[in-house]
Amino acid sequence: MAGTIPRDDMTSFEAVTWFFDQAAERVRCDDEMRELLRRPWRELTVAVPIRLDNGKLKMFTGYRVQHNGARGPYKGGIRYHPRTGLDEVRALASLMTWKNALAGIPYGGAKGGVTCDPGELSTTELNRLTRRFTQNIAHIIGENRDIPAPDMGTNAQTMAWMMDAYGQMFGHTPAIVTGKPVELGGSYGRDAGPGRGLVYCLEEWARLTDYSLQGSRVLIQGFGQVGSWVARLIGSLGCTVVGVSDISGGLFNPRGLDIPKLMEHVGQSGTIAGFQGVEEVSGEEFLQLPCDILVPAAIEGVIHSRNADKIQASVVVEAANHPTTPVGDIILRDRGIALMPDILVNAGGVVVSYFEWAQNIQQFRWEEERVNKELEKIVKGATREVIKLSDREGISLREAAFYIGVERVSRAIELRGFV
Ligand code: GLU
Repeated sequence: MAGTIPRDDMTSFEAVTWFFDQAAERVRCDDEMRELLRRPWRELTVAVPIRLDNGKLKMFTGYRVQHNGARGPYKGGIRYHPRTGLDEVRALASLMTWKNALAGIPYGGAKGGVTCDPGELSTTELNRLTRRFTQNIAHIIGENRDIPAPDMGTNAQTMAWMMDAYGQMFGHTPAIVTGKPVELGGSYGRDAGPGRGLVYCLEEWARLTDYSLQGSRVLIQGFGQVGSWVARLIGSLGCTVVGVSDISGGLFNPRGLDIPKLMEHVGQSGTIAGFQGVEEVSGEEFLQLPCDILVPAAIEGVIHSRNADKIQASVVVEAANHPTTPVGDIILRDRGIALMPDILVNAGGVVVSYFEWAQNIQQFRWEEERVNKELEKIVKGATREVIKLSDREGISLREAAFYIGVERVSRAIELRGFV
């Protein structure tokens, strides 16, 4: 609830709802509207039984949560992770609602997932799992209803299987998912989208706040789809990546890491571990290393009450979804650390998804240059709006970002007049 002190042991959905409530209070939403905006509109839990390669049956659980559909078809990724559960999917679906509204793209918010460890499944098992999951949620998705995309643990291949499984039931429908391989109607630039969006967002923020990026030291926590693209692109702003981490731990070199070499190493070994010429640190130590810009690009809740006071960065740029707990957020704010929020920073992924969906519907392909130009326009525009509101109201960038999202969704509900 607005005005309440957040607790450290909040679930992901409680935490995201806490951020929402702060914004709803500022936007002066009445109680009825808040209830409509807070609650997911539809939640589906499905059993996903598949035969493993050894012939045994294994039962997985999958979810699709459609949080809010006031602004258009539901949109959001599908996550494969051992800790994925309904509460987490709800939280991430809610974030998609505010993210899509803030970016001004015509979607509601959704998220899905299957509780599984994709690293322990073979390619054929993952293919079977994805097909069965798609069949079991097929009645609530659709190119004008709900459009999935990749998220943690899923990728372009997963989307190709989803498209194929859906197509077997309803006929070829490329716009049913985004983040597909380019050969199957995916968009140029979708892979790099979240990382490129982050770079545009940081560039615009630095320009408007007179922050000098030249020579800034960057730490990137997480070296997956988003983190590795940030590492490749952020040098274009004059920053130096001094550390990266993944589940194996962290690497640090105050003089900067050789990113092309590191990419080559990861390509060969699948992990950053074992990369030469760097200092190795533990995951927890990593967040406390000296730097100017910290980019959490891994999982939820990594900045919290027990480490937020030890972070040395002057700017935190949230590439992951919900990496900072409400208590962590308050500590960073009290310490004067600037925080650029997830729903703004990583919107590049879903924005390029929107371009892909639009290209599929038009049966037309854009050049990568056009994708990046349009992405830049949307991300920099949203960044300017957030900064302007934050200055006008004297609120944090996160509060401003949620404020804009909540205002747009509640306006859409009023205009539709369905309640
Ligand atoms: N999974 C991404 C996100 O969290 C992208 C979602 C999409 O493209 O629909 O924003």
